[in-house]
Amino acid sequence: MKVPFLDLGAHHRGRFEAFHEILERTLSTSGFIGGPEVDGFEREWARFCETDHAIGVANGTDSIELILQGLGIGRGDEVIMPTNTFVATAEAVVRVGASPVFCDVEPDTLLMSGRTVEAAMGPAVAAIIAVHLFGQPVNMTEMAAVAERHSLVVIEDAAQAHGATWDGAKAGGMGHAASFSFYPGKNLGALGDGGAVTTNDSSLSDRIRSLANHGRDIGTHHGHLAVGRNSRLDGLQASFLREKLTGLDDCNAGRRSHHALYTECLPGLVRQVAVDPRAIAVHHLEVIRVPNRSDLMARLEAENIGFGVHYPVPCHRLEAYAEFRRTDTPVADRVCDEILSLPMYAELQEAQVRKVCEVIHAFTETLPPESASQAAGLADHQAADSAPAPT
Ligand SMILES: *Cc1c(COP(=O)(O)O)cnc(C)c1O
Repeated sequence: MKVPFLDLGAHHRGRFEAFHEILERTLSTSGFIGGPEVDGFEREWARFCETDHAIGVANGTDSIELILQGLGIGRGDEVIMPTNTFVATAEAVVRVGASPVFCDVEPDTLLMSGRTVEAAMGPAVAAIIAVHLFGQPVNMTEMAAVAERHSLVVIEDAAQAHGATWDGAKAGGMGHAASFSFYPGKNLGALGDGGAVTTNDSSLSDRIRSLANHGRDIGTHHGHLAVGRNSRLDGLQASFLREKLTGLDDCNAGRRSHHALYTECLPGLVRQVAVDPRAIAVHHLEVIRVPNRSDLMARLEAENIGFGVHYPVPCHRLEAYAEFRRTDTPVADRVCDEILSLPMYAELQEAQVRKVCEVIHAFTETLPPESASQAAGLADHQAADSAPAPT
């Protein structure tokens, strides 16, 4: 039995006809850029995220950059973010002329926290980017408290968290603004690139809409108020996204049930990333921590099971980002060698999850006693790394 890491073919199979109809309709209306399909998707995406505004843009990276630019964050400003994120988060900060400050993450959730963000605080910090990594929301109660204490804005990078909630609130509506990616492999993916910004701030929404469309004065069309750029969601992708949005809640529910089955069937020596009880995660990735990762990878490969590593090198160790400020990041530095992402997508079959778990079981049984105790030690590290309870 083959178990791919991700199967977009299976994900789209039931919608081929709808996609063909969309293509025909777009050809007959020539609604390629902007138009009612983009407006419609923006309305539906804002409703889904429980925000007042959504602005469709060309991709997720642009959406982060446009939020920063719209907020006036740039040269001389610092922006705190976790070092274990996709490089795009840091890239967007550098592109607007600001500097990322890389902070550590908690050992159980692998997410930034009030504690790790406070450790990175400094006088030039203007914003925090809360990255809801792997489909798990950051503790936004703590982020809001830190932001208030230091008068900062919180931006959500929700590229992996479409539909996730923290304490009942939807990802996308908890920060000052949020960025989404609709890269095909994300929980909601276009048939190409796409992205969106969500916010409740009307004037920020207007500014971003203008910046993403050549700085155009939306009222006069030919007036240009700021040096903008071209970062638009096209009509075809907006239509595909509207079609796929109707299935997003079901897909997320499917991911949650696969996650529960992994929890039931994975051997005790393998640790899953913990989900906070106040969070509803959408399991963009199923991340485990294992000893002897390269041996397990070889085993999975031999059994035709796909996997990934998200991410093998923390941002502060990437050559392009070596110059930027960082805190000590002992957790991120260690876990990057232990993490492994297992197959996870809505169309995964129960038998496939069981197969992956069987192969991992067989693997842990062959571990020499010292790696077995190292594996057990993953739990001890966790206890040792944990912050004392807040007083
Ligand atoms: C995918 C991703 C992005 C970038 O989105 P693109 O649409 O690929 O530009 C940014 N941040 C995170 C955490 C992501 O996973």
